[in-house]
Amino acid sequence: MAVHSTETAANTPSVALGPATALSCRECGERFDLGPLFACATCFGPLEVAYDLPSGDPESLKKQIEAGPDNIWRYAPLLPVPTDVADKPNLNPGFTKLVKADRLAAELGVTGGLYVKDDSGNPTHSFKDRVVAIAVEAARAFGFTTLSCSSTGNLAGAVGAAARRAGFKSCVFIPHDLEAGKVVMAAVYGGDLVGIEGNYDDVNRFCSELIGDPLGEGWGFVNVNLRPYYGEGSKTLAYEICEQLGWQLPDQLVIPIASGSQLTKIDKGLKELIALGLVEDKPYKIFGAQAEGCSPVSTAFKAGHDVVRPQKPKTIAKSLAIGNPADGPYVLDIARRTGGAVEDVNDEQIVDAIKLLARTEGIFAETAGGVTVGVTKKLIEDGLLDPSLTTVVLNTGDGLKTLDAVAPTSGPTATIRPNLDAFRAAGLAG
Ligand SMILES: *Cc1c(COP(=O)(O)O)cnc(C)c1O
Repeated sequence: MAVHSTETAANTPSVALGPATALSCRECGERFDLGPLFACATCFGPLEVAYDLPSGDPESLKKQIEAGPDNIWRYAPLLPVPTDVADKPNLNPGFTKLVKADRLAAELGVTGGLYVKDDSGNPTHSFKDRVVAIAVEAARAFGFTTLSCSSTGNLAGAVGAAARRAGFKSCVFIPHDLEAGKVVMAAVYGGDLVGIEGNYDDVNRFCSELIGDPLGEGWGFVNVNLRPYYGEGSKTLAYEICEQLGWQLPDQLVIPIASGSQLTKIDKGLKELIALGLVEDKPYKIFGAQAEGCSPVSTAFKAGHDVVRPQKPKTIAKSLAIGNPADGPYVLDIARRTGGAVEDVNDEQIVDAIKLLARTEGIFAETAGGVTVGVTKKLIEDGLLDPSLTTVVLNTGDGLKTLDAVAPTSGPTATIRPNLDAFRAAGLAG
């Protein structure tokens, strides 16, 4: 694999990714130089980015962040990106709305403050723009020329768009049977889009093989060999939520789980904010949300298991349809350590929740948002989520990409001839 080192003075790392200093193994702690590595050479554990984070006065760091751009680069001092990242061509995602959802709160009986973090507002309408933006900077630093990924749909579109904007070639891989909205979004930016006859887990296995083959030479797979960097993009959700709450931790968060990367990195981001003194330390609970038709993590959680048994996905929440989630065991740890839980809802409950969120707050979520809202409702009914506490629910994607989920039950109230008599007869006036 090509790792191009740039000309630097002796004893400085060959790649400059801001405060990032190394990759460290999440299992055994061994450290490695920054590079396109994703598994520990000693124990095969997953790697994550280690930092030398700012150590100065928290108030001046807060001011520096607040004076930054209205996108994820305001948090550049806490991310593995070059210090001049904001000047580079990138899609600049983030700083999406945190909506105070009072009508939804009333419907669900939440009294402690309910918020929806609405990531449908990102450039390609899902949270994936955050993780891709970071992976693009790593790909640049390591000299890759092609961006690639294994995707459940949203990632393929995010990579295609980011590749065009940043000047990379791209070749992305998806299961062949995704929603039309996802396929079109992934194709429209150009670059190669390959449908694989299989599910996401087959796509991911294929990509792992491709990385080890000359066919994949010079390719940065954002969620495979760039995964440690990619994952860090999800920390920005934690940073934004706390900043938007006035630099405070929420009490409870409900987060969707596909591979589990997002959930684990939101936890990492919250812990960093506490360590940096940017928020006051207090307990928070993290709840994971899955679809019943692909619920390997919630099944393990409920059974009290530490290991996650792979499942064969069958759900309308295709963006979350990962049957063998790489970060599953870490999600279990976090849910248990924080006093949260992992729960799932079925397809009908997902559709009902999409419509509930749309009808109460004017937010049209994709199926993954139906999963988090549906799980929130269920957790409250089961007494696991405390309605008297501040709660943030994530909507990670846009309903326009998963129209099929609600199309059969969402149509015109009436179809009439263009005259007043016809409208009167329809009984809608007054
Ligand atoms: C990818 C994705 C997620 C979560 O992905 P993880 O693999 O768990 O990080 C959540 N919502 C949507 C809409 C997604 O596309």
